[in-house]
Amino acid sequence: MKVYLDNAATTPLAPEVLEAMMPYLQNHFGNPSSTHQFGRSAKSAIETSRKTIARLLNCSPMEICFTSGGTEADNMAINGAVNELGVTHIISSPIEHHAVLHTVSHCASAKVRISMVNLDEKGHVDLDHLRGLLASAKEKTLVSLMQANNEVGTLLDLEHVSALCEEFGALFHSDTVQTMGHYPLDLAKTKIHFVVGSAHKFHGPKGVGFLYINRTVHVRPLLLGGSQERNMRAGTENIYGIVGMAKALELSFDHIDTHRAHIENIKAYMKSRLQLKIPGVAVNGCEDRSLYTVLNVRLPESDNSSMLLFLLDIDGIACSGGSACSSGSNQGSHVLRALKVDNTVPSIRFSFSRYTTTQEVDYTVSRLKEHLIGKSIPV
Ligand code: PLP
Repeated sequence: MKVYLDNAATTPLAPEVLEAMMPYLQNHFGNPSSTHQFGRSAKSAIETSRKTIARLLNCSPMEICFTSGGTEADNMAINGAVNELGVTHIISSPIEHHAVLHTVSHCASAKVRISMVNLDEKGHVDLDHLRGLLASAKEKTLVSLMQANNEVGTLLDLEHVSALCEEFGALFHSDTVQTMGHYPLDLAKTKIHFVVGSAHKFHGPKGVGFLYINRTVHVRPLLLGGSQERNMRAGTENIYGIVGMAKALELSFDHIDTHRAHIENIKAYMKSRLQLKIPGVAVNGCEDRSLYTVLNVRLPESDNSSMLLFLLDIDGIACSGGSACSSGSNQGSHVLRALKVDNTVPSIRFSFSRYTTTQEVDYTVSRLKEHLIGKSIPV
């Protein structure tokens, strides 16, 4: 049996998405910058996709810039804020994705100051501390905080942070890679300057994403060259990727409630089976309000602790390690370390999709129990 429980890393392409992409892989191969009919048909597919994404997020198509994925979009927002928008102070958190953390530290200089907001042990941002940091800042500030953590799933109150940023005149960038397509997002209502999408996290293709750039701000491109994306991002567009991403996001939003109900049930089911079958299991991050696609657990110590992912892989089960250890070349998880999660026991992240079944969960719990406790049991 093959079981894929690593959907926070990437998701399988939805069949409907592949179908939407196929004509652009096979027939419509024109360069969107060409003015002949081959080019015009490609260009029109890009603009239709942009309109679809803008409609789903309630923003203007002009505010959507296509990128190669979440990493590029995060880089573009943060570098753009510093290089073009006069930002000399960035507030972020130690549990951001490396696409944000490494970009933020790259921006640190004599001119740009970095502040890290306090978090509780579950990964919640201390909103009073954030307010204090904003209130005492004299400089133009960018707040860069993710909507949901990709390892433990802890959620940020986007509205609250948006209101705080507005109150203190700060720019707000949120890495929404893990939440895009899983929660409604109305960009006409939530004041935010940059949000990010990465198609492969919502059953679209890899290597394509987008940055929403609020119309009140203008940043310059990371890549120089042609005038694609209205001079925002040079390079011939990934047409089939963009078409696939728009289709994938549309499918996600069209069925958001049914997908959510299914995945929430799967997560609750897995948690209860783990707790029933494996004594000593504990949840990392927030138990009651967290990203419903992610379940990160600490497991009891056993002789197999360091081999768990390998043993599950042999069983055909894919999930992610979240070890907090920092020995040797394995740096472990910066997120679990920042949250001071017990690193003497193994932690594993299971992440689900609309395709995950309870049978897959049963099989996983049964294999895990055998590796940890040594008894093969029907679950
Ligand atoms: N931000 C978060 C929260 C992520 O989980 C990821 C991917 O794992 C990224 C950014 C990077 O996205 P991409 O793989 O599209 O570059």
